[in-house]
Amino acid sequence: MRQCPYCSHANLDTDTQCRKCDASLVGAAGTVYAGRRHWISGETAYSVRRKALAILVLGLLMKVYWGGYGPWPVMDNPSLASLRSWLEPLLVYGGVGLYALGWILRFV
Ligand SMILES: [Zn+2]
Repeated sequence: MRQCPYCSHANLDTDTQCRKCDASLVGAAGTVYAGRRHWISGETAYSVRRKALAILVLGLLMKVYWGGYGPWPVMDNPSLASLRSWLEPLLVYGGVGLYALGWILRFV
């Protein structure tokens, strides 16, 4: 068993890459880059995707708790409403876009 240093996933001994997060399991001494190089490493792409998910969840929470979807009264103070009108789409669409970027850049 070979444990991933980034996500603690238990991989097979023969694996050179984590099956969960794509992080490299071979150290600098055992560089076996048979394929071409990518723009960003697997670890970087994974951390970008994790941050993007956090941003997306924050935006969705904002939408649910502040967007009038629940039985609670919505705070419609004008300054808060104007903040929500640009912050919520930024978080939701920005999070989705960043996640897609973190996933696509892994293969570029
Ligand atoms: Zn991993």
